[in-house]
Amino acid sequence: MPSLSSPPNPLKMPPSPNNRNATIVAISTPPGVGGIAVIRLSGPEAVAIAARHCKADSGMHFSVFRDGEEVIDEVMVACHRAPHSYTGEDTVEISCHGSLYVQEAILQAFVASGARLAEPGEFTRRAFLNGKLDLSQAEAVADLIDSTNAAQHRLAVSQLRGGYAQKLRELRAQLVELTSLLELELDFSQEDVEFVSRDRLTRLVADISLSVEALRSSFRMGNALKRGIPVAIIGRPNAGKSSLLNALLHDDRAIVSPVPGTTRDTIEETFVIGGTPFRIIDTAGLRESGDEVERLGMERSRKAAEEADIIIYVHDATQPDSQIAEDLQHLPLDGKHLIVVYNKVDLLGCAPKTAADSCSISAKTGLGLDALNAALTQIIAAQNVSPDTGSNVRHLEALTHVQEALAHVSQGLADGLPTDLVAIDLRDALHHLGTITGEVVTDEILGTIFSRFCVGK
Ligand code: GDP
Repeated sequence: MPSLSSPPNPLKMPPSPNNRNATIVAISTPPGVGGIAVIRLSGPEAVAIAARHCKADSGMHFSVFRDGEEVIDEVMVACHRAPHSYTGEDTVEISCHGSLYVQEAILQAFVASGARLAEPGEFTRRAFLNGKLDLSQAEAVADLIDSTNAAQHRLAVSQLRGGYAQKLRELRAQLVELTSLLELELDFSQEDVEFVSRDRLTRLVADISLSVEALRSSFRMGNALKRGIPVAIIGRPNAGKSSLLNALLHDDRAIVSPVPGTTRDTIEETFVIGGTPFRIIDTAGLRESGDEVERLGMERSRKAAEEADIIIYVHDATQPDSQIAEDLQHLPLDGKHLIVVYNKVDLLGCAPKTAADSCSISAKTGLGLDALNAALTQIIAAQNVSPDTGSNVRHLEALTHVQEALAHVSQGLADGLPTDLVAIDLRDALHHLGTITGEVVTDEILGTIFSRFCVGK
C-alpha cells in the first residue's frame, strides 16, 4: 500500500467533476518532525469529517483529537466556513504536535472518515475555481512560496495583491469594449452602418497595443529579479575578474542554506545585495584555467555582455587607463549599465580618480567592495520596479500572442477588411489574454501550473 504521505499519482486520479466535490486533506507543513504540523481539510464535508475526531464547528479552539477511542493528540482546530476561506469551501485546519506518528495518524483518520488526499496545489486550484484568486494570483502564490530574497518576495506579493492582475483586467476591459463595438457593427452590417469610425478603432487598438507592450517590457525586469539580474564581469587577463567574482560570492551572506532542489553551482553563480539577487553570466569563462586563449576570447566577453543587464569592467589599476576605452569600444553597451572597476588599488600609493559609474577596489583585500555593492544597489533602485511588473514566462508568451493578434487587427483595419474578419483577430487577442488570468482555461494549463505547487497548498 502506498504511504499516505506521498502525493497520489495525478495520472491515476484525473480531476473529474466528482473528484472536485470531494473533501481533500493534506499535511500543509513540510515533511518531517517539527514543533507543530498543520493538517488541512477542504470541501463540503470538511467540518463533518473533522467533527468525528475533534470539536469542530466554527472559529478557533483547543480540542482533543481522537481516532475512535484512542486519544491521538491535543490540537488547535480552526474552522472557516465557505465562502470565507482560502479555498472558498468549508475548511478545517488542525495544528497538532509535529510528530511524524501524530501527523500520519490524523491524516489516516481523516481519510478513513471520507477525505481524499489532496494533489499538489489542489487547495489553490480550488481557490481559483471558486473565484477567490485569478490564475495569475494563484501563480504568484507559488512564487511567494519559492521566494528566497526580498526582491522575489516583493514581486510575488505585488502580483498576489493585484497591481498586476488589475492591469490585466483593465486590458481585458478595453479589449472587450473594442470587441463589442465591432460586433455591434457586425449585427447591423446589413444596414451598412458604421457605429464607430475605423479611425477611432485604429486609435483604440494602438492604445491597447501600447499597454500590452509596456507590460511585456516589464517582464525583462521581473524575470531578472526572479532569476537574478544578469551581470557580466569582463576585463583583460589578470585584471582580477576571478578574484572579484570570488569576493562577490564570498561576501554574500544572504545565501546561507542551499535552496532544496538547486545545485551548488547555481547557488555559486548568484549573490544577493540589499535583497536583490544578481546572477553572474559565464562563470565558466571566469573560473576555468588552462585554456588561456579561450578564456580571454573577446567573442566570449561580447556574448556575456550581450546577455547582461550590468557589465562590470575590471581594470588592473597598475596598467595604463587607455586600456579601458580600447576594450569598451568592442563591447555592446547600449541599454546596459556599466561599472568600471579599478582593481588592485592595494598596489597603488593612492586611489585612482573615479567617477559616478566607477569604483576602486582591491579584490584581494576586499577594500572598496562596499562601494561596488552600493553601485549595484543603486542601479536596481533606479529601475523603480512597479507593482504591475510581470515575471511569469507563461504570461509573457500569452502577451506576445495578444500583441500579434492586435497587429493583425490594425492591419485588417488599415486594409479595410470586413468587420467580421477583424473581429476574429480581436477575439483571438482576448482569448490569449484570458489564458493569463484564467477566464480561458484548460485542464492542461491548470495541470501545468498546479503541479509546481507543494502538496498542502
Ligand atoms: P583574471 O585573469 O582577470 O580572472 O584575474 P585573477 O583574478 O586570476 O587575478 C590575476 C592575479 O592578480 C592573481 O595573481 C591575483 O591574486 C591578483 N589579484 C587580483 N586582484 C588583486 C588585487 O586586488 N590586489 C592584488 N595585489 N592582486 C590581485
